[in-house]
Amino acid sequence: MGLFGGKKEEYCTVCNKRTPRTSKPKKEWNIKGQLCAKCFVDYMKKPIAKKKSDDICVACGAEPGGLNLWKPKKEWQLQGWLCEPCLREWEKSDNELKKNCIVCNTKLGFFPRYAKKEWNLKGYLCKNCWNAQESKT
Ligand SMILES: [Zn+2]
Ligand SMILES: [Zn+2]
Ligand SMILES: [Zn+2]
Repeated sequence: MGLFGGKKEEYCTVCNKRTPRTSKPKKEWNIKGQLCAKCFVDYMKKPIAKKKSDDICVACGAEPGGLNLWKPKKEWQLQGWLCEPCLREWEKSDNELKKNCIVCNTKLGFFPRYAKKEWNLKGYLCKNCWNAQESKT
């Protein structure tokens, strides 16, 4: 019997009913298998299932629950949320970083600019170094 022989009967992985047509679940649903049309629509209607990672601090893995998590600053390039102690830590080191240019160590002014992602620098740059980096790319 060839692999591409007759179509197997398919079952919905959620309701276990046999179904003539199945749909692939969306990745964020975390479902293994196929869904019947009805279950697919049901899932589509659900308010976006909160991903588990929404309740976890990305830095330490604590689970204080979504309400007690804080959005990290964009510059930190973190995917997810931080618990309060971790946010404080990040802010502290962020403030340290802000003091001096990461390249030439010059004292920075009020509006330090965070290095662009593609520069592979973690920190803030003075205007001169920023311009130098930018002219390189
Ligand atoms: Zn189903
Ligand atoms: Zn944490
Ligand atoms: Zn500099």
